[in-house]
Amino acid sequence: MSQNKEENNELSSPTGGQGFIPIQYFTNYIDANIVLGRLEEDGIICWLKDENTVTIDPILSNAIGGIKLMVAENQVERARGILQGIQELQGELNRCPKCGSNNVQLISSPRKAINWLSSIVTFLMGSYAVAVDKTNHCFDCDHEFDPVIPPQELD
Ligand SMILES: [Zn+2]
Repeated sequence: MSQNKEENNELSSPTGGQGFIPIQYFTNYIDANIVLGRLEEDGIICWLKDENTVTIDPILSNAIGGIKLMVAENQVERARGILQGIQELQGELNRCPKCGSNNVQLISSPRKAINWLSSIVTFLMGSYAVAVDKTNHCFDCDHEFDPVIPPQELD
């Protein structure tokens, strides 16, 4: 009899009391949220663990392994497929436009000097301004180009 009531309680949990498994780790709050948004778009039930700790205390985040992307147990396979798709897409986006090489890495841009004014702008614009300070560097031809951030359509 009391078991029926327990089942009703599980309605508050979208997976019916299932466990969540970490399928990817992030050290970057922005990356984590972009991937989270993509998975949610595809109906994956997921959330970020240790997100607040990382944001508040970056030193502590090293000790606990960063931000974990937690996915509902029965959706892990689908989520991994979507993640792979995102990674392939990012590989395409980060291809060097000059020589077509994939030997490209995101580096901190030395072009933009940090001064008190840009610090204030960064603060006002939130964390997205930080990403703008990074640039892609091609290690094959030394060409540098701005990273393409997948467009986020949030309503
Ligand atoms: Zn190149």
